[in-house]
Amino acid sequence: MSKKGDMLYAWTNDAEIQKKAELGGAVTAIWKYALESKAVDAVFAVTKGVDLYDAVPVLIRDPKDLPKTAGSLHCGTLLMAKLVKKYMDGARDMKIGVTVKGCDAMAFYELAKRKQINLDNIVMIGVNCGGSVSPVVARKMIADKYGVDPETVHKEEIDKGQFIIEYEGGHKGISVDELEEAGYGRRSNCRRCKMKIPRQADLACGNWGVIGPKAGKATFVEVCSEKGAALLDGAVKKGVLATEAANPKGLEIRGKVEGAMFKLGDKWRKHDFEALGEGKDRLKKIMTETSRCIKCYQCIEVCPICYCVDCTTKNPTFVPPGELPVNFMFHLIRYSHIADSCVNCGQCEEVCAAEIPNALFMHAQQVELEKMFGHIPGVDMELPLMAYAEEKEERQRLHNTGSDMIYENVFNPVPKK
Ligand SMILES: Cc1cc2nc3c(=O)[nH]c(=O)nc-3n(C[C@H](O)[C@H](O)[C@H](O)COP(=O)(O)OP(=O)(O)OC[C@H]3O[C@@H](n4cnc5c(N)ncnc54)[C@H](O)[C@@H]3O)c2cc1C
Ligand code: SF4
Ligand code: SF4
Ligand code: SF4
Repeated sequence: MSKKGDMLYAWTNDAEIQKKAELGGAVTAIWKYALESKAVDAVFAVTKGVDLYDAVPVLIRDPKDLPKTAGSLHCGTLLMAKLVKKYMDGARDMKIGVTVKGCDAMAFYELAKRKQINLDNIVMIGVNCGGSVSPVVARKMIADKYGVDPETVHKEEIDKGQFIIEYEGGHKGISVDELEEAGYGRRSNCRRCKMKIPRQADLACGNWGVIGPKAGKATFVEVCSEKGAALLDGAVKKGVLATEAANPKGLEIRGKVEGAMFKLGDKWRKHDFEALGEGKDRLKKIMTETSRCIKCYQCIEVCPICYCVDCTTKNPTFVPPGELPVNFMFHLIRYSHIADSCVNCGQCEEVCAAEIPNALFMHAQQVELEKMFGHIPGVDMELPLMAYAEEKEERQRLHNTGSDMIYENVFNPVPKK
């Protein structure tokens, strides 16, 4: 019997799943078991649409349809959680199994805190995530940097720091660092992302740490909850999944890779945030960029933190209707409502028709607020800062300013109790 904290290698014996799976097919095999045993009513996963640049979310009810969801799509920059809220009634009456990247898992928690998703009805299998690449950027990168027609590519993967493509007539890898220096590669929010192994999901699955004869053929699984342990055991008992204890050396390597990814995330944060400038320069930059906004409201539509029926940005008292360039208040409203809980999923930046670096602006604020208040979004059910004020903490914060007003010394980090 497995338990929370176990680290395993897992692989399926199901030939159809094996054929399409990224690694050992553990994710898809466990979903098959979950659907067949009615542990979930449906599985929400991702499948290839017209080509590998086209990641399509699908709700699967028939286990026979599951193999088509196997495999990782690195151009799948979509976010699953808000779709569950919008189109599946927040899983109120349906048990849904969802494959989640780190940002998806974080978004589920943020929506659950705001009572938009019933987390009791959600089972999450997490996949480690080193980053995703926007489809349009990927196509351009393959044409420009690889000299390959993007239409001829039939597989892509990110392995050992390289973005590798297989195409008619060969395969080619270029280091992600080199691509990113040249302005391609992973989305900018992914470069800053530090949610590499989603341990707030029920299981966390990945490639990192699988060494020896099982390399490339097994999935590394970390059991993160009792719910996850029960699913894994059930799948093994049914015979759709085989497991063995992870190689201790592999475990060590996995820890090192995760540590290196954190460092890289920090490097990009420093790089991106410093480029915003300081003081009035930063304000000017943000105001200039956001003045291109056409008020399409798409950033609000996709943000997992935005849950209001009517957004304050539509209130004529705050943002004059029918006026472009948009009043800066539009963006100030978003910053004040979201910055404490932004999970850096990048959706607001990716959908923006005016190509405003929305996620960058929000993330830069979130990181400072996290330092200040110690609140980490998306990892557990701890309430958002403004929804839970504690007298003792408030007193301490005022005390730490060494003053009786909140005018000075505010930007000293509050010591953790
Ligand atoms: C964008 C991305 C980046 C990744 N980077 C790393 C990494 O750096 N290191 C590492 O160890 N592992 C990484 N993984 C995880 C790894 O590729 C495998 O998905 C995982 O190990 C499970 O393997 P499997 O054979 O058991 O999964 P499979 O049985 O093949 O199932 C894969 C599951 O992932 C879902 N999926 C595919 N694309 C997406 C997507 N874009 N968003 C959400 N769900 C998706 C599928 O629908 C399916 O449910 C990444 C995965 C993705 C999607
Ligand atoms: S934000 Fe993080 S978890 Fe999400 S796709 Fe990018 S790297 Fe992966
Ligand atoms: S503000 Fe942007 S990056 Fe942050 S959670 Fe919302 S959509 Fe994601
Ligand atoms: S998505 Fe871009 S253009 Fe549309 S409202 Fe948001 S910031 Fe403005």
